[in-house]
Amino acid sequence: MNKNKGLLIVLSGPSGSGKGTLVAEILKRGDCAVSVSATTRSPREGEIDGVHYHFISREEFEQRIREDGLLEYAQYCDNFYGTPRKEVEEMRAQGKHVILEIEVQGAFQIRERCPEAVLVFTTPPTLEELNRRLHKRGTETEEVIEKRIARAKEEMPLAEQYDYIVLNDRLEDAVADLNAVIRAASLRPAYTDISGLL
Ligand code: 5GP
Repeated sequence: MNKNKGLLIVLSGPSGSGKGTLVAEILKRGDCAVSVSATTRSPREGEIDGVHYHFISREEFEQRIREDGLLEYAQYCDNFYGTPRKEVEEMRAQGKHVILEIEVQGAFQIRERCPEAVLVFTTPPTLEELNRRLHKRGTETEEVIEKRIARAKEEMPLAEQYDYIVLNDRLEDAVADLNAVIRAASLRPAYTDISGLL
């Protein structure tokens, strides 16, 4: 593997755990990029096609699967979500650390296909806080919120299979923890070139 390639960082965690805010902070480093996923979900108020997601139809999504254009994909609460393979590969080849903000099924597919990936799970401090954050966001109906909380309860035990768990209580602490993970991961032999010393 090319040792100058950027890291592949998977960030999972329940809807409302603050992944989006955490990623926005990490992007300030300048050497990281976030992969824009494809989804069959409808855009929320303020979401822009090509920025937050590539919003595509179910037919287009299936076409991408057939063409092997997705590095991973999964169904989550009635919609499909997937990571565009080419974009991720191009960004990593440019030396950018690429963050995939994806759910658990996709995360485990990535671990299979890209064993060098670093899997990070972010958790809210409590389920009550998760509930509060989802209501405060106000972007989903009560029915959708309930589905997402049920899904969070299923996902939480899988955190133990990740490489790292970042508790997102105080944002500054979570950002510092994720920066530490990125630093440590970039020191792994897969990314560190010592050929001049051998
Ligand atoms: P939301 O609808 O809130 O934007 O996303 C719902 C869930 O889908 C979140 O857990 C999010 O991380 C996940 N997700 C977003 N993009 C992808 C993707 O490309 N692949 C997979 N497997 N999950 C994704």
